[in-house]
This record gives sequence, structure tokens and C-alpha cells, in this order.
Amino acid sequence: ERTNHPRSVPSASDSAEVLPATLFANADTPEQWQRAREQGACGVGLMRSESLFLRAHDWLDEEAQCQAFRTMAKASVGHSLVIRLLDIGGDKAWPTLSLPEEDNPALGMRGVRLLLARPDLLEPHLRALYRAASHGPVSILIPMITSVEELLALREICEAVRLDLQAPPVPIGAMIEVPAAALLADSLAKHADFLSIGTNDLTQYALAMDRQHPRFAMDADARHPAVLRLIDRIAQAAQAHDCPLSVCGALAGQPGGAQLLCGLGIRSLSMVAAELPPVRAALRADSVDTLVERAKRALAADTLAAVRSLTEETG
Ligand code: PEP
Ligand code: MG
Repeated sequence: ERTNHPRSVPSASDSAEVLPATLFANADTPEQWQRAREQGACGVGLMRSESLFLRAHDWLDEEAQCQAFRTMAKASVGHSLVIRLLDIGGDKAWPTLSLPEEDNPALGMRGVRLLLARPDLLEPHLRALYRAASHGPVSILIPMITSVEELLALREICEAVRLDLQAPPVPIGAMIEVPAAALLADSLAKHADFLSIGTNDLTQYALAMDRQHPRFAMDADARHPAVLRLIDRIAQAAQAHDCPLSVCGALAGQPGGAQLLCGLGIRSLSMVAAELPPVRAALRADSVDTLVERAKRALAADTLAAVRSLTEETG
């Protein structure tokens, strides 16, 4: 069972304007978070921890990780900070770790699968996070979840690390970015403290189209009606279980996409700093009723072209 640990997420009413969604930052560094904060972000909705290692071109030990997480945690006091566990493998190549060569890395050892297979990587990573959490409002987000078993296994390891450090509990959330997780959202919602939809991978895996494919990436559009129906299902499951839900994939940072997500009842969106002003303008432009109505039409659409023209009416 999830711990129901309350998240210190400021509500939309904390800011002067009332938007149908609270806007957060996708930020990997204090500078990116600062820029997003200047644009009105209420917290960090996604810090991709792999970015630390990619920037260092090396593996970082517990101390170095802790230092980086602590800096972000301190800069986030009074806000919120969702740090995603190391998400490598697949398109996120990793030259310095000797990972197995695979014919199909997108379907292989990546995300949470890799973390569960490599305690030598996971344990210092979690220790660094729990240590940093005493300096600010850290939440932990698990990437590429495909089953409840993975979530429970990861939670158990988190709890062991936490007890060992005698650290306070932190909210533990699951990324929903694999179709299996979308279909299991109601089960995952029972065991996660929060859910976060990664529309980039959800689209790639639902449409079986490589998100970086030179020819197909353009068609790997999260507005595809099949993806929207998965997102709608996740939103309903989260609501039914009273589980906080946000979206941190690219769709959240597109004006028309953010409108669709709000129309589906999603109240928390995370994006990079530059996307905040256009998204805010789009969310101000129409009433919630209009957004709900448009989202209903998009859900009923037969084609991606139809959804695209609906979303391009305004954004
Ligand atoms: C996603 O898949 O939508 C996501 C936010 O994660 P990343 O882009 O890092 O895979
Ligand atoms: Mg992803």
C-alpha cells in the first residue's frame, strides 16, 4: 500500500492567477530551475538524474550524487522537487558503464529493469537521494515501470535504504510511459504515492515508432487518438484512487497539448522554462468547459489528423 505521504505541492491558488493546471519545471540543474521559477514554475516536476552522469561523462559516487541532489533540494525549499531515478539504456546510451550489447535496447535492459538488476548502481543512488532529502522537498520517481511487481520491489529497496539511514520517508511515484503501465494505472495508483505520465516513451511504445527515427519521429505524435485514450484511462484511474497525477512528457509543454491534458482533467504539467509562457497563455485563452469539450472531441476522433486540427484551432 502506498504511504499516502502528503506532497508539498503548492496549489494553483498560491499564485496570483488561477490556471486550470499547476505548472512545474523539467529542470536538471539549479540554473534551469531558476529560469523556470522566473517564468512562474511552482516546483521541479522532473529532474532527469541521468543528466548528472551524462554531463560528468562518468559514473558519480554516492557523495558526488548527494552533493548534486542536495544543491537542487536546497534550491527547491518551499516548492517541490521530483527526482527521477537513473533512466539509462534504450535511446539513453551509456558509454562508461559496461552494459550488455543488445539487439533491441529499447526493449531490453533499461530504466527500472536495469536498476533492479544492478544493486551496485541503485544502492549508492538511493542513499544519495535519501541523504539529500533532509535538505529539501524531494520525491522519487521510478522510470519505465511495466508492472506492480517492479514498483513494489523498488519500494522495498527504498525502504531498506531509508531505514538504514534513519531518513524520513519521501513520496515514491511511478512513471507511466509504457502501454502496460497505462493499462495497469489503477493498480499502480494503489501502490504509488503519485504518477507521472511520460508522453514521449508512451507514444513511442504505443505506436511502435522510435521517437528518434529519422522518418517516423514526426508521426510519433502524442496526440494520436490511441495515445490520448491511454492518457484518458490513466487520468481516470488516478482520480478514482485519489492519486496525484502529472504529465512530464513533451505534450505538456505544447500549448495545444497542455490544453488537451487539462481537458482530460490533468491538473499538473511539467515542462522546460521556455515552454511555460506559451502554455500559460494557452491555458488562459479558453474556459475549462471549452477545454473539456475539445478533449472529448479529440478522444472520439478517428485519426491523428483530426486531433491535430482540433488542437491547432488555438495552439
Ligand atoms: C517521457 O518519456 O515522456 C519522459 C518524460 O522521459 P524521457 O523523455 O526522459 O524519456
Ligand atoms: Mg521516458
